[in-house]
Amino acid sequence: MFNILKERFGYNSFRTGQKEIIEDVLNGRNCVAMLPTGGGKSLCYQLPGYILNGSVLITSPLISLMEDQVQQLRNRGEKRVVALNRFLSYREKRDVLRELASYRFIYASPEILQSPLLIEALTRINISLFVVDEAHCISQWGHDFRPDFLKLGLLRQTLGYPPCLALTATATRQVIDDIVTTLKLDRVKQHMYPLDRTNICLYVQYVHTVEEKIEALKQLVATLPKPGIVYVSSRQWAETLAQTLHGDYRVSYYHGGMDGEQRLLIQQQFVYDQLDVICCTNAFGMGIDKSNVRFVIHFHLPTQPEAYWQEVGRAGRDGNESIAVLLYAPGDEQLGQAMIDMEFPTMEQIVYALHALQNGQKETGLTDVQQGLILYWLEQVDKQENIHTLAKQLYVRIEQRKQEKMTKWAFMQRWVNEQTCRRRAILSYFEQKPLRNERCCDRCGAHLYVNAHIRQNQQVQLRSWREELRSMFAVKVENE
Ligand code: ADP
Ligand code: MG
Repeated sequence: MFNILKERFGYNSFRTGQKEIIEDVLNGRNCVAMLPTGGGKSLCYQLPGYILNGSVLITSPLISLMEDQVQQLRNRGEKRVVALNRFLSYREKRDVLRELASYRFIYASPEILQSPLLIEALTRINISLFVVDEAHCISQWGHDFRPDFLKLGLLRQTLGYPPCLALTATATRQVIDDIVTTLKLDRVKQHMYPLDRTNICLYVQYVHTVEEKIEALKQLVATLPKPGIVYVSSRQWAETLAQTLHGDYRVSYYHGGMDGEQRLLIQQQFVYDQLDVICCTNAFGMGIDKSNVRFVIHFHLPTQPEAYWQEVGRAGRDGNESIAVLLYAPGDEQLGQAMIDMEFPTMEQIVYALHALQNGQKETGLTDVQQGLILYWLEQVDKQENIHTLAKQLYVRIEQRKQEKMTKWAFMQRWVNEQTCRRRAILSYFEQKPLRNERCCDRCGAHLYVNAHIRQNQQVQLRSWREELRSMFAVKVENE
């Protein structure tokens, strides 16, 4: 195991949890593992790939994420790796399927994993490990629910229950339970590691108005070490702030409304240090392996603690000092509330969508996630009922889901007005305790602008002051 770690991956030691998880994986145990962002989750299935017999099947929510991983493996000299997604041509796909068993690592998007041809090919080969990355996407209570993920349990069943490794960086007990149930994991071993990121200072900066907020942002961007990420809650704001900061820095924006190619380009620019600041919605960041992000600024209060913590975790993956600043102005609550309201369809929208689905129409007027949820729920109810009864049944579920979201949102509103330690409060949501106590958060007395740059200057001054004394009086200064 250590040989492979060194020779294949070039690492000298395991990070917290990696060894324990890998040992269980090698023993064929089903595992759910929670390691913080940047904790090194990929190694937990990549290393076993060199020991186990057969192919490792990996699915994860974002195609760009998978492409990154594939590229990294190829850079390490791995040839037996492939990514299956909708960008493959028919011929490419056919060729890959014919030789599927020859691949050590098969990355596949959840949507392509529903293709009968692929499923059939997968049943014919030996899957040594079934990996679900960003597994919190399975849970409808998770902050990033992907309906496509719900089918993975069935797929695992079809494949004869290969050993499974589900990975995530943020999940509550409820979400973990959902992962275990959906993937049908029996005798599961849960590896829960501390989620605290001890090199990130948490800070909430209060302002009075939006104008003040923009000023505060400019000041932060001017003063804090870069690169950094500015999270906003709408596409419009991402563009506006990028415009505002433009000129002084290399800035770009990123959101779900841009086409895939454009997004990939911006993401690459950021990863390769060609941008100082990226202004983005929560569409940006999942699984992006960039180690030197020095700040994460939230321009709006996120509506869920999971989302906040995951976004904060994109700072300082290299372990160096970083900061997460949340800008808060009175009235921000209304925006959050509006976003939650918008997420859920009304009764009329549900009835319309049900009619559309019944008539085999593609256009239901719902967002992808809404539609995915409704299709999933429809599988669980008696479809012989008339549309209005069905709609009512669905609406009950929607109300339930909305209540859950409201609870999370209430938590965030309390958190931002919290008088005690920010870190303790946010980690309590995940039933964990903080590990960091030095320069912890604004409530614990941390200052905003204590950064490496200022500290260096102080040291220089101190030394020259001592030297000056020495030269003036020719004495040895105490405590040197
Ligand atoms: P996660 O998926 O948990 O967010 P990744 O698997 O993308 O994290 O790993 C984050 C970074 O840490 C990568 O650059 C990876 O090469 C590095 N890394 C992983 N394991 C180790 C290790 N044992 N020693 C040194 N670096 C590691
Ligand atoms: Mg990852």
